[in-house]
Amino acid sequence: MAETKEGGKLPVVVIAGRPNVGKSTLFNRLVGRRQAIVSDEPGVTRDRKEGEALLRGRRVKLIDTAGLEESAPETLYGRMRSSSEEGVAQADLVVFCVDARAGITPVDAHFAAWLRRQNRPVLLVANKAEGRAGTEAAMEAFSLGLGTPLALSAEHGEGIADLMSEIAERLPSQESKAAASEEEEEAKPLRVAILGRPNAGKSTLLNTLLGEERMITGPEAGLTRDAVSVTINDGEGPVEIVDTAGMRKRARVNESLERMSVSAAIEAMKMAEVVVLVIDAERGVDEQDLQLARLIEREGRACVLALNKWDTVEDRQAARKAVSNRIETSLAQMRGIPVVTFSALTGAGVKRLLPTVREAAEVWNARVSTGELNRWFEEALERHQPPLVGGRRLKLRYITQVKSRPPTFVIFGTRVDELPESYKRYLVNGLRETFHLPGTPIRLQLRSAR
Ligand code: GDP
Ligand code: GDP
Repeated sequence: MAETKEGGKLPVVVIAGRPNVGKSTLFNRLVGRRQAIVSDEPGVTRDRKEGEALLRGRRVKLIDTAGLEESAPETLYGRMRSSSEEGVAQADLVVFCVDARAGITPVDAHFAAWLRRQNRPVLLVANKAEGRAGTEAAMEAFSLGLGTPLALSAEHGEGIADLMSEIAERLPSQESKAAASEEEEEAKPLRVAILGRPNAGKSTLLNTLLGEERMITGPEAGLTRDAVSVTINDGEGPVEIVDTAGMRKRARVNESLERMSVSAAIEAMKMAEVVVLVIDAERGVDEQDLQLARLIEREGRACVLALNKWDTVEDRQAARKAVSNRIETSLAQMRGIPVVTFSALTGAGVKRLLPTVREAAEVWNARVSTGELNRWFEEALERHQPPLVGGRRLKLRYITQVKSRPPTFVIFGTRVDELPESYKRYLVNGLRETFHLPGTPIRLQLRSAR
């Protein structure tokens, strides 16, 4: 069962099946957003994807199992099974997808036999059956021994409403879910997104963190095109890591894929609490990195700067200094941002990353009491009085923290909309230093109080 934002558990629905039967297309249909990237290009759908879908008023966690387009035919079944095994084990329902146009293949039959032994509820779906095409194969699918196949077309949207109803009907009842959720409340994962330019080493980093070859990495830019999430345990608890496509301006591989990947990165950032911005230390911080950092600030996420490929840097002191100078001058809003240096390739230093990420999350979650805030506020106002505007002094009365994630403060006063930016910066810097909020975006709002 997956966590909801409210801490409850979502039923897990896993979409399994041979490559190219249309799993990703179906996933997109059900999630209603372009979370998975569908393509005719073999091998584009490479990793497990997760999303949330609302089906007949029930929220579910949907998992799209790995595409296996690259594997040799004789190993297809084995790879299909290993990629599905984990998903199926946690599934409340498996949607087993076959291709009604291609008909039932031996691989489908083999997989169905295995699936029957897993004792999980299975819903059999015959896809690509638009306009009554493939009715024969749909009938043939009866032979799989998984009940009545539901013929539909993911691409054309036919039969999707029925599928949603069928799924909702087969899910465990909501009452038992609510009871289970309270016990597991503790295990809420920390959500982390890995962002960075293509080739910064994001996939390599994720592989190292996983300690296994889950992701496919390589020297070609843009190989990782899609946002993928995996959950690991760092000893402190679960960490859900979203790896994202490399972001770059000029798409060379395939423009439409690239564009979708940028929005996937932004989407991943929205889902994350902490963003790890991976920078290629061999190349240093460039404008694209800064743009990403600004985007992270704008989205109000905690950020950790990860200087990767540290193994290639000779003068480490100089490199570190160059980076902090660049950040200080170009990213004043993120002052004090934590920096971790490592080599994702050799693994040296990588173990410092997650503890730093957890610290950044703590800062991001910080709450300061109104009493403490106002003691500081009075002093800050005394040290530097708010400026005169039109010959009259602005009055700032008191301050309170209205939320965290990121820390957000409201100051009440009179004629506050005339307060100059420089004075706001003075206050934000003071908040940052006094209450130990390095590297996190701080929001300061002003409200008029009569
Ligand atoms: P996956 O490998 O199982 O995830 O398959 P994809 O979702 O990537 O789809 C494989 C191919 O099948 C793509 O070219 C899709 O456009 C196509 N496809 C998916 N659903 C349908 C459908 O309902 N009808 C037809 N004709 N093609 C579809
Ligand atoms: P991504 O596009 O950000 O996912 O980058 P990849 O993980 O695919 O890495 C791009 C290239 O940089 C690959 O050739 C990696 O082997 C290499 N690389 C990644 N991390 C390191 C590192 O720490 N040191 C060195 N020397 N090379 C690295």
